[in-house]
Amino acid sequence: MTIAIYPGSFDPIHNGHIDIARRAARLFDKVIWAAYDRPLKNLLFSEQERLEFMRQAVGDVSNIEVCSYHGLTVGFARQIGARAIVRGLRVTYDFEIEYQMALTNAQQAPEIDTVCLMTSMRYAFVSSSILKEVALAGGDISEMVPPFVATRLKQRIAQLGDDRTEKVKLVSLQE
Ligand code: ADP
Repeated sequence: MTIAIYPGSFDPIHNGHIDIARRAARLFDKVIWAAYDRPLKNLLFSEQERLEFMRQAVGDVSNIEVCSYHGLTVGFARQIGARAIVRGLRVTYDFEIEYQMALTNAQQAPEIDTVCLMTSMRYAFVSSSILKEVALAGGDISEMVPPFVATRLKQRIAQLGDDRTEKVKLVSLQE
């Protein structure tokens, strides 16, 4: 049985992530869709919330298992007997980062290969940080995330209150 791990922060998941997880499930016997428990990023959602979204998104796919992990991705991949690390590629900028990460991981664990899947065209511009920024500014994110993520994102933003843009790191859209 060939096991693959699809790791990331997934804060929160969007349709691009779900598309990659589902496509990976067609290529491998089992896909472990795994969220880093504490990435070096400003998180909007807790580990439990991120996992809940992931489970809801692929509940109908029997060979995807959702979990979280900490420490090195290759360490966890070894622990679960994964042969491949799945990553998604959107733009050339992703390639440089993924290439560096794949070579580093290969140095740590030569028996595990990185497999990059190209994004589907309609999700090429979607990222967790862009969608959070659009949502924070009151924009429409319904094309980027499943409805249950959109609803929770709205609730979280309302909880953050008026100084929400101070609390969440923004990237670019306000320039
Ligand atoms: P990171 O692992 O850097 O925290 P994310 O959690 O946002 O990044 O994403 C996890 C994985 O999903 C990465 O391989 C990333 O390139 C991929 N990914 C993110 N957005 C998309 C998208 N729109 N289409 C395809 N793959 C994507």
